[in-house]
Amino acid sequence: LELPIHDAVLATAERHAEIPALVDGVTGESVSYAQLDTGSRRVAAGLAEAGVRKGDVVALYSPNTIAYPVALYAATRAGATVTTVSSLATVKELTGQLRDSRARWIVTVSPFLAAAAEAAGVLAQEGQPIQEIFVCDRAEGHRSLTDLLASTAPEPQPRIDPATDIAVLPYSSGTTGLPKGVMLSHRSVSSNLFQTESMRRTEPGERILAVLPFFHIYGFTALLNQPLRSGSTVVVLPRFDLEQFLRTIQEQRIEGVFAAPPMILALAKHPLVEQYDLSSVRYVLSAAAPLDADLAEACARRLGLPRIHQGYGMTELSPVAAVMTPDDPNPPCGTVGKLVPSTELRVRALDGSGKDLGVGERGELLFRGPQVMRGYFARPSETDAMIDEDGWLHTGDVGCLDERGYLFVVDRVKELIKYKGYQVAPAELEALLLAHPQIVDAAVVGVRGEDGEERPKAYVVRTPGSALTGEEVIEYVAGQVAPYKKVRAVEFLDAVPKSVSGKILRRELRDRARQTR
Ligand code: ATP
Ligand code: MG
Repeated sequence: LELPIHDAVLATAERHAEIPALVDGVTGESVSYAQLDTGSRRVAAGLAEAGVRKGDVVALYSPNTIAYPVALYAATRAGATVTTVSSLATVKELTGQLRDSRARWIVTVSPFLAAAAEAAGVLAQEGQPIQEIFVCDRAEGHRSLTDLLASTAPEPQPRIDPATDIAVLPYSSGTTGLPKGVMLSHRSVSSNLFQTESMRRTEPGERILAVLPFFHIYGFTALLNQPLRSGSTVVVLPRFDLEQFLRTIQEQRIEGVFAAPPMILALAKHPLVEQYDLSSVRYVLSAAAPLDADLAEACARRLGLPRIHQGYGMTELSPVAAVMTPDDPNPPCGTVGKLVPSTELRVRALDGSGKDLGVGERGELLFRGPQVMRGYFARPSETDAMIDEDGWLHTGDVGCLDERGYLFVVDRVKELIKYKGYQVAPAELEALLLAHPQIVDAAVVGVRGEDGEERPKAYVVRTPGSALTGEEVIEYVAGQVAPYKKVRAVEFLDAVPKSVSGKILRRELRDRARQTR
């Protein structure tokens, strides 16, 4: 079962040849499975002819487009490692990732060419030149995918060892620090595909909506590798715009939505949702950040679904560790699902004793399985801190397992607010705040006082026109939690800072709290 990722994903492409693999949700243009399969083979030949060799790092710097997977699987077919770059990266961030990943080639789109060229210029001066910049669309002076498609060179046959060769080098989201390059072998990625599809898979022709970014491991897996392996049709949108998202669901009769909590929040609370016919949607899956159970229920009710499904993972796990099965008649509220097969879990005490905890007890989640990364690229000490000698990946996440084997994820260890020997999970307070009718969005961070204790501070976005005060917010929370969990300060914001993959950027809020103290 160890396959190069393009072989794992495109194994069934011939069977689905005439089905659209991807459809552009804006223009209606599409790429069939036949085009994806032969296209990626021809482009691989073109890349090899241009000089791309086994082990070279190709940076794929593009928003979601229907050409994205053609470029992706062409590069891996040529034996390259693909590092996916955020479409929102600044030139400085792009340069940083190209430098850090030792990229030799860039594949981008014409609107990003200026940024790509600027980054390449910096690297050339540093003696780490980019060999060539290709574009997926068209641009004067650059070879395009269409040009590469025309290659008559033989298809490259690099000898890929799935266990050791790195297929992708995605960067973690940078929620807790600088993003790190995560080395995922062909084996890790393909194993995780098999592990996950034994629990849930999309159907041939099933229409799913791709609005989460392909460059992040969640979109990379749930919106490309998995559905393309099943013969589903991926409808692509460039970014999350609620109105466009709802309209596309209605017009394209979308059946499956892969979401992050901010999208669930919008679906549960935004008045626009009522104006669209979303009856085609059969399931919504949320992952990437904690999802409050009440919010999930409100969203499900509004869409007429029995529940919102959840999955849990991280870049370092290729990425899935647990997921809900679609036909589970009675999953407990708030679970992220059950472990995928061939995955071991340990729940380790948070008190530093290193003790293993039992059912129902909260601790740090440690995983072991074929989907664990090879390590962080060029960061051996950070790799050692993350994966121990016995192969256990220390996630930094707090959670527990129930007696029926359902996993629950509470929050990150680092985000827990430490107050007088107690630990408060920001996600729990955020859930309470979100249940308030005049609160649209909220985030909680710990702010350290002069006595060394951290106190929860809430950043709150009110509904338009609301005159809710800070004191009212404090009282509202105090009425529902143990005294040590009380929110001690409130600040109102226009929006909570979040990453494109839907994570609250608590670092930014903590910096803000420090500055305003
Ligand atoms: P960095 O590691 O660079 O600080 P990051 O951890 O946000 O960033 P990702 O790999 O994108 O980078 O995210 C993985 C993390 O997302 C997990 O460790 C976990 O904290 C969170 N997460 C993922 N799924 C869930 C979920 N269903 N519920 C709660 N948290 C989740
Ligand atoms: Mg992380």
